[in-house]
Amino acid sequence: MNTFNALVVREAEAGNPKSAAASIEQLTDADLPVYDGEETVVVDIDYSSLNYKDGMALTGKGRIIRSFPMVPGIDFAGTVVSSESDRFAEGDGVILTGWAVGERFWGGYSQRQRVKADWLVARPVGLTSEQAMGIGTAGLTSMLCVLGLEAGGVTPDDGPVVVTGAAGGVGSVAIAILAKLGYEVTAVTGRPEEHDYLRSLGASVFLTRAEMSEDPKPLETETWAGAVDAVGSTMLAKIIAQTKYQGVVTACGLAGGVDLPSSVMPFILRGVRLQGIDSVMAPTADREAAWARLATDLPGDMLATMTEIVPMSSLPEQGDAIMAGQTRGRIVVDPNA
Ligand code: NDP
Repeated sequence: MNTFNALVVREAEAGNPKSAAASIEQLTDADLPVYDGEETVVVDIDYSSLNYKDGMALTGKGRIIRSFPMVPGIDFAGTVVSSESDRFAEGDGVILTGWAVGERFWGGYSQRQRVKADWLVARPVGLTSEQAMGIGTAGLTSMLCVLGLEAGGVTPDDGPVVVTGAAGGVGSVAIAILAKLGYEVTAVTGRPEEHDYLRSLGASVFLTRAEMSEDPKPLETETWAGAVDAVGSTMLAKIIAQTKYQGVVTACGLAGGVDLPSSVMPFILRGVRLQGIDSVMAPTADREAAWARLATDLPGDMLATMTEIVPMSSLPEQGDAIMAGQTRGRIVVDPNA
């Protein structure tokens, strides 16, 4: 490939943040980033995806992009073109998520990218590139949450698990995995029109965003054996107050806010455990374990139900949509369309 397409975000003119614009540019291999002293791998990208953070990068919210010009896209799946590392050879299927790619380093919204070998994991047998990005960073995070619940000893016999931000990417994948594993899943969503979709993934009980956003008492009725929370703020506090004795709450997101207006009562009287989940700097061994479980514990038909494929050219509008909470499930980005 002599030239290839990439979505490039260029820096705003001083004093005019609105001048920052993302547009598709034609690049050559000579334009790709170099990482002095590091083993690198060049990858032809099959698919990337759209995550909440990508929405922030595309819309300029939250100052996610740390250096310009930037090729956003916090994840991708592709095929190795050339490798300086013994871990990967030409033709290997690989996945990248996290490590500040798409924020500090050039990412997945490109037909080709050069990255540090340490950032890559092998694509598990049984998953296509399209499926890997149907899962993407959001789905990896969902599985890390499920592994957090399992590590905390939460089993399907212990009672229901609640998932917030249910119709979003993290929520959708979490529901499908938990239901497949036999958990009773309650979904919290602000979109009642998505109940049928969420039921098809395996949710059996629904709560509204509004009722779960009411200020919690220090302790409420013990309801949840576990939780996967993508929302944060008052909703996370409410869930903590409703968690059963020694239940586990995994917190991975901030779609509703970054604060946590909770009290110590659930922790000191019920032994509730709050487990933070980070996918960005997660050790490679943890990622490999999570991807292996995703290859077996996320039914392919469920993944297809929650996935929409869009061309790279539609990303500016898709970025607006995810920031407005209007996307459903997972958006896979095709840079080659
Ligand atoms: P999505 O936008 O796909 O999903 C977020 C969902 O949250 C929405 O679909 C909506 O669900 C709900 N929501 C949106 N706005 C609000 C609000 N104001 N109050 C309450 N609920 C709201 O994003 P992702 O699934 O990609 O990411 C979800 C969160 O997880 C984000 O905060 C993201 O930053 C975080 N994340 C963290 C990672 C980590 O490593 N810790 C990795 C990946 C994501 P509904 O319409 O059903 O109510």
